[in-house]
Order: sequence, then structure tokens, then C-alpha cells
Amino acid sequence: MDVPMTVTRFAPSPTGYLHVGNLRTAVLNWLLARKNGGTFILRIDDTDPERSREEYADQIRRDLEWLGLTWDREERQSSRLERYHAAADRLREAGRLYECFETPTELDLKRKKQLAAGRPPVYDRSALQLSDASKATLRADRGPGHWRFLLDRVEVRFRDLIRGDQRIDAASLSDPVLIRADGQFLYTLASVVDDSDMGVTHVVRGADHVTNSGTQTQIFQALDAEPPLMAHNSLLTDADGGALSKRLGTLALKDLRDQGIEPMALVAYMARLGSSLPVEVITDPTVLIDTFEIGQFGLAPTKFDPADLAQHSAKTLRSLSYEAVKSRLSDAGVPSDMAPALWEAVGPNLDRFDEIAEWWALCRHGTDPVVDPEDAAYVKEAIGMLPDRPWDTDTWGAWTAALKEATGRKGRGLFQPLRKALTGRAHGPDMALLLPLLQRAGDG
Ligand code: GLU
Repeated sequence: MDVPMTVTRFAPSPTGYLHVGNLRTAVLNWLLARKNGGTFILRIDDTDPERSREEYADQIRRDLEWLGLTWDREERQSSRLERYHAAADRLREAGRLYECFETPTELDLKRKKQLAAGRPPVYDRSALQLSDASKATLRADRGPGHWRFLLDRVEVRFRDLIRGDQRIDAASLSDPVLIRADGQFLYTLASVVDDSDMGVTHVVRGADHVTNSGTQTQIFQALDAEPPLMAHNSLLTDADGGALSKRLGTLALKDLRDQGIEPMALVAYMARLGSSLPVEVITDPTVLIDTFEIGQFGLAPTKFDPADLAQHSAKTLRSLSYEAVKSRLSDAGVPSDMAPALWEAVGPNLDRFDEIAEWWALCRHGTDPVVDPEDAAYVKEAIGMLPDRPWDTDTWGAWTAALKEATGRKGRGLFQPLRKALTGRAHGPDMALLLPLLQRAGDG
């Protein structure tokens, strides 16, 4: 039997910036497609012309490119309206799409009455009772109506690749609006048409879409299309288990980038967080792809701690070889012919990549020494005892051993004043590695 090629899609709405929650969905879809040699589609869900902005769509592409989450195809819902019209016509012909005229206030009132009577606030389908003549009158009075999908009031079952067997009781749901009174197609319909037209085999998205999947399963069936396999990843919470939604504004991918988070660290973090595999420093995407299984993810909400991500990012950065960072040096304002030894000395000490610029500048131009008054005499003596150049990686050890002998100082009291005098900072890389790189500071 032919197994269809895996086709996944990441379908953000360009109504805001991507944040870590969206990223998880993007990463899982990307991994699933790559693992199976399939196709990963970037679908821009821009059916809402008022809220969608080109600026957001551009930023979405930039974010994904930054992370290396390459897509094979891009689709835009706004250029597929004809397909949605055709699908709506089919549903109408099949008696599954009906026009309603209630105003939001009327609907609200209905809901309140139902709740007061102890009944679930499910749309009562009264528009189904309207005669053609009353519809014409309402249309003349109120303008065109909105259109609802007539749900089959049965239990919808599907097997979720993450959450296991799902049962959604369609009788407890309101018939969803698929077309607004102003003619705008809603995502619920547009997404089904796209997934079916584009041969999407797996829909991976957040757990907030589970009920939607019940509804959409019926829409697929009403359009004679096979629903794709579904997987709903658990939502992210903050470190205390609270909803992350309030903080998502500060967790936009472009902000994480500005904060110096390493792209590959972010991808590796999201590829493993909430799964049965550990979050590890992985800088080769093929390792993530090879070890990925959608079933490794769990149902439980997943804690996301920005401080933990920052640590993971620093750890990842420190593991990178000179070869791996060489092409990025110019982004940090460092000449691309920077000595590899500088990366080897400084890299294992960085929190974020752009800090390399300070160390490069120090080795190139030197710095004003920082000398605490109580160390002034010691530093003067030490400078007097500095071995002749050239300095190599043994120089620091030999120099400080001689100073220890001469002054009786040891530990912090021996090393710290020298570090501050030479680098202007209290912390930094291994001085044995750094000292040889400082010998030409200020030479030109
Ligand atoms: N545009 C929808 C969203 O951002 C897509 C959901 C889906 O993947 O089907 O929630």
C-alpha cells in the first residue's frame, strides 16, 4: 500500500508577533515533515483583513528563517477565497449551511436565558425555522445574514496522536459560524478547505483547538474529504503552572532574538520540552529530526521558564566551535578574520553571542585598567614582573606563581587584581588563555 507523503502546515494568523507558544507548534510540524521526508507548508491565515498586517507576515517569515525552520511552500488564505466560496456552495446545497440574522445582543440574551434555565448555552437553531419570505424581510431590514454549519448532533471520535482517543459531543456545541455577515470566511471553514486541497496529512496544533477538531471533522466529512490525522500539543504555562498567555507579549520570538537567545538552542528546547526526551544541547538539527516522535509528547501542560531557556541558550553557545560561529562574527561587528584562539578563550564564557565584540575590542584596543586603591602597590609590582613577550598559554601560570612567591598572596587576592587591571572587569574567561591574546592590545 502506498503511504501518502507527510504534509504538515504551520498556520499562524498575521495579527501579531509569533511567541514561544506558536513556536512549539511550528517546531513540531517542521520536525514531523522533515522526519518523514515530507512537505512543510507555511500557511498565512489572513482571512481577517482588519486585523491581518503585512508587517506581521514579514516578521513571521523572518522569525522562521532565523530559526532555520525552512518551509517548502507558502500559502495565503486571502488568495484562496474562490475555493472557500465553492466549498460554502457545496455545504449549502447539502443543507449544511444556513443563514442566520440574530444580532450579537440577541444571541447574548438567548445565552443568558438558557444559562438561567440551567441549560447549556447552545445556539437554538431558530434560524432554521425561518421561511424564505421572513429571510427576505430580515435581509432587507438587517442586511445579509451570517452562515452557520449545521452540526450532526452525534459524538465525534478521533484518535489524537498526542492525547489519545478523543470524543467530542457535537450536541453540546453551537453550530459554528463559517461566514460572517460581511462575507468574511472564518478560519473554521477556510482551514478545512486548505487542509483538504493541500493534502495535509497531519494537523498539529495547540490543545485549545481540540473542540475545533471535532467540528472540523464534520466539515471534512460534509465536503467528502478525509480528515487528516490530528495531534494537539499541550499549552505552555509559566514556571508556577499559571497561564502563560498574560506573558506572551514579552515572549515574542523577535524579543528573544534581541535578548541574544541562540536560534538553535530555542529550536532544540522547543523540540524536547514536554516530551519524554531530555532538553539537551543539540546543535545539529538532524539529531532533533532523527530522535523526534510525536508520541513522545504528553498531555500535561508544559512549564516554560524563560530563565531556563536563557541558560540552555548560554550552554549551547558555549559548546559552539570557532568554525560554527565564524560566519556570524560580522553580525556582532567583529572582523571575520578574528583569531580562532579568541573564540576558544572567550566562547566558553559567553552568555550571548554579541558579547564576543567586547572581548575582541579588548584584545584589539586594550582597556583602562581597574585598580582598587588597596591593590595599587601589588598591581604595580606585578606589572614590573610581567614576563617578556611573546606570551603564551603558560605565561599566566608562571607569572602568578612568581607573584605568589614574591608577595605571599594567594587565591582571589592574587588573581582578581590582575584580571581587573588587564581586562577592566571582575569576571571573564580563563586568564591563561586570554593573556596571550592581550599582548598586542593597543598596538594598532
Ligand atoms: N490560524 C490558526 C491559529 O493560529 C491555525 C490553527 C490551526 O493550526 O489549524 O490558531
